[in-house]
Amino acid sequence: MNSQGSLKNASQSEASDYSAGKRSGNLIVLSGPSGVGKGTVIAKLLEQVTGLTRSVSVTTRGKREGEVDGLDYFFLTADQFQDARAANELLEWAEFAGACYGTPQRWVEQQLADGKDVLLVIEVQGAKQIRQRIPEAVLIFLSPPSFEELEARLRGRATESPEKIRLRLNKARQELSQKVLFHYEVINDIVEIAVDNLAHIIYSERLRIRNSAQ
Ligand code: 5GP
Repeated sequence: MNSQGSLKNASQSEASDYSAGKRSGNLIVLSGPSGVGKGTVIAKLLEQVTGLTRSVSVTTRGKREGEVDGLDYFFLTADQFQDARAANELLEWAEFAGACYGTPQRWVEQQLADGKDVLLVIEVQGAKQIRQRIPEAVLIFLSPPSFEELEARLRGRATESPEKIRLRLNKARQELSQKVLFHYEVINDIVEIAVDNLAHIIYSERLRIRNSAQ
């Protein structure tokens, strides 16, 4: 059987486990520097892997062209964000390049309890908080093939001002130095291969024996 075939089989048997409500889902954290291509990879990953759902974060960042409130992010004012934090509604949060970002806790917990794997696409400070709070979370770092390639992708995107790009490149350098905190590294050189590697990790983690007496 080829690897595609075995991936499909794992996916199908797991999907039926989910509908029977036999197990709670895994929390999957994906981090990687701005410009590494998280958006493209994630869209394909969500198409390919059943039983996986993506958390929609709250942010104080301004909406980019084409972004939809409630789909890409929940766009909040600084005061609204502060209220959510004060009410302990965020599983983690961080400041990134001048804006605040956070993960709504209740929604994530509900999805996990329903047996869905939940994907958080967050920066490294948030990943660290998750690692501390939820040790069984699966942490994956998405790397660019090289820093030069990352810089070219970020400048090519043209959604940010030169100052914002500079901020994001500095942040990327810091983030790349922290990938040792993660369980897995996937390099996004060829998108399809990166997506397949992510899918393999997620399927393998579904087969991990958890909560065994030790
Ligand atoms: P962007 O402004 O490019 O959409 O996101 C900037 C960074 O914030 C990205 O690395 C993205 O993954 C991260 N991010 C998005 N949502 C969250 C969140 O809820 N928490 C944290 N800690 N980071 C987030």
